[in-house]
This record gives sequence, C-alpha cells and structure tokens, in this order.
Amino acid sequence: MLIVMTVGATPQQVERVIERVSALGLKAHPIPGAQRVAIGITGNQGAVEPALFENLPGVLEVIPVSHPYKLVSREAKPESSIVMVGGVPVGGDNFAVFAGPCSVETPEQTLTIARHVRASGAQILRGGAFKPRTSPYTFQGLGEPGLAILRDVGHEVQMPIVSEALDEGSLDLVAEYCDMIQIGARNMQNYSLLRTVGRLRKPVLLKRGMGATVDELLMAAEYVLAEGNYQVVLCERGIRTFADHTRNTLDLAAVVAVQRLSHLPIIVDPSHGTGKRHKVVPLARAAVAVGADGLMIEVHHEPSQALSDASQAILPGELSELIQQLPQLLPLTGRHMAQPLRLSA
Ligand code: PEP
Ligand code: MN
Repeated sequence: MLIVMTVGATPQQVERVIERVSALGLKAHPIPGAQRVAIGITGNQGAVEPALFENLPGVLEVIPVSHPYKLVSREAKPESSIVMVGGVPVGGDNFAVFAGPCSVETPEQTLTIARHVRASGAQILRGGAFKPRTSPYTFQGLGEPGLAILRDVGHEVQMPIVSEALDEGSLDLVAEYCDMIQIGARNMQNYSLLRTVGRLRKPVLLKRGMGATVDELLMAAEYVLAEGNYQVVLCERGIRTFADHTRNTLDLAAVVAVQRLSHLPIIVDPSHGTGKRHKVVPLARAAVAVGADGLMIEVHHEPSQALSDASQAILPGELSELIQQLPQLLPLTGRHMAQPLRLSA
C-alpha cells in the first residue's frame, strides 16, 4: 500500500503517518518526490485497512499497489530516480558509461585499460575480482588483491569503481573497496544476498538473471529497497533463448518495459548480452536509441590475452569511437552524458 501526502504536507504530518505505520508493526518507507512525499508500507501479510490513514492530516490518498512490487514501482515514485555512484549521477537525464576489463588481472593491465576508458569519456570503471565462472577450473578472479588493484587504479584515473560480490564474504570486501556493488545475473535471485546488500548504504548494480522475467528482476530489486537501500541501478544483460548466433539474447524491450513500471535507472550490457566483439557496438547504439540510462561494456587492450570473456572485449579505440557517437544519439531520448568526476591535479 502507498500513502500519498498532499503537496503541502508538513514533515510533522509525514512523521505522524510513519508513527501509525510503525505502531501496526509495519515498516514505512518515505519516498520524497519532486511534487509530494509518498510513503510505502512493507511488512504486511494481507491488505492494510486504508481507513487507518485516510483521515490523518496531510494524507491525500491511500492507494493499494497493484503490482507485487511496491517501492520500485512508478506508482510509488513517478519521477525517475537518480543514483549517485561515487559522485557520478546515473538515471534521470544522465547517461553513464561503465567500462573496463571483465577481470582485474594485473595492476598494469588494469591501469592501461582504465586510462583508455577515462580518456574515452566513460564515467565509471568496472572490473571483476570475484568471478562467477561456469567452470571451476578457469580463472576465478584475484579476490581481495584484485579489489585493491581496482581501488588504486580508480584513484589514479579518478573514476568511481564497481565490482561484483558473489556471496556474503566477498560483499563485505566489495563494499569496503568500491563505490558500487554489482550483483550478477547468477545471483539475481539470491534473496539472502539481496537482503544483506539492502542493509548496506552503497549503490547496487543489479543484473538481470539469464532466465528471469522483468517482474522477477523488479521483485529482486524490491528485496534491496525493502531493506532500506534505495540506490539500485538495474542492468539488462541478455537472456537465454534458442538463438545460437549470440551468447545471450539482448532483450532491449525489457528496458522500455522496466521504465514504464519502475523509477529505477536501467543500463544495458551488450558485452554479456551478445558475447561477440563485433556485435557489442551496434547493440550498444541500439540500447541508447531505445532509451537506456547507461551502458556497461567490457574492454581490453589485448583481448586475445584476457583471462575471462576474451571473445566479447572490445578494443579501447572501439569504445572511444562509440562514445564519440553518443552526442548524436542521446538527444533522441532526452539524455546527455553524465558529468564525469572532474580531474584534480
Ligand atoms: C560481469 O559483469 O562480469 C558478469 C559476470 O556479468 P553477468 O552476471 O551478467 O554474467
Ligand atoms: Mn565478463
């Protein structure tokens, strides 16, 4: 259920509603909007009686939420959310490019790629230290030393960093070293991990599971918001289909579907979405045209030497060329490149 306050409702009136929600043993989530405050209620097993709130001062209306998710829905918050990632805004009109190697391999490799990524105009640096690999015998990531390399390189090139957490143990480390925590496709429905990440106060990049529907993606995000962490960016990264010309099938319609249902930003990962270098840039351009809030792209200066996802890494020059094309595409959907962190001497 959602309680919508009047435009002129006072903080005291909002507080009074929150107190009544808490007195019922439920959790109140005040959601400030551009026009008015809405208060989401979670923790109820069945329907909550609207009359308990309707007559409180400052309450405009009490709306039963029609979707199984509440806090992520546009009903709860009509304006698109902006998530700040280490000082870079993602969402709203702000388009952000997350780029970097699939895996952090060495300090030199990470710094080389990061310098290219920074020079290309991308705003956020990605790099995996805990890798969810299909085979237990392939490179599993450097673990904590990899996070330390990514943090140092992020400082060097002055970019916020994002890396994946695979479980509760790696989550603590990723939260300590990084500006944003990635929850990968394979963990999208790991509900205990989602709850734990929801108790942190760090931005989360939540990737769509390879067999998950849009509703399931939004429900996964709801787990994070329900614990009080509202800083979630969603990511479409391709789903499993019968198609064998592509590693996954990049579902760009999901971007449009999500934006209708939810206020959360959604970015697109054409690297895992296609798995083939030659498909990454065309699908990236398509993602921009469809209205995505950003891109996540894997880059390597020596793709054939990459320790993971070698066949989908694009070259630094290809990333630069793509980003140079963005000013032509972004106005189509009313977006502009998010301001990167300003370089200090
Ligand atoms: C990744 O971003 O490196 C990754 C493993 O992605 P996904 O979870 O989408 O497979
Ligand atoms: Mn990868």
